[in-house]
Amino acid sequence: MTENLKDMTCEEFQSHMPEMIGSGEDLSGHPHVQSCALCRALLQDLETIAEAARQLFPVEDPPDRLWEQIQSAIGRDKDSEEPKEPEVTEKQPSRG
Ligand SMILES: [Zn+2]
Repeated sequence: MTENLKDMTCEEFQSHMPEMIGSGEDLSGHPHVQSCALCRALLQDLETIAEAARQLFPVEDPPDRLWEQIQSAIGRDKDSEEPKEPEVTEKQPSRG
């Protein structure tokens, strides 16, 4: 079976975008990006945000959480349920 990456929709592509970037894939060379100016622009935005975020947050932070923030910043959280939890604060257990 051959996966036509170029044939994927913007929605599909964008839903995989965080994973692909997170796994270190070079999305600028992605077939869809090369054929889709919209996603190319989006990718550039994401990379800019991600780059800035990396400098703000230490590497210790899980990328998933980072992407949540980025995605919400973009404003595309249509079909994602938001947990009704208040702020989750990670408590680092100091020695004891
Ligand atoms: Zn696209």
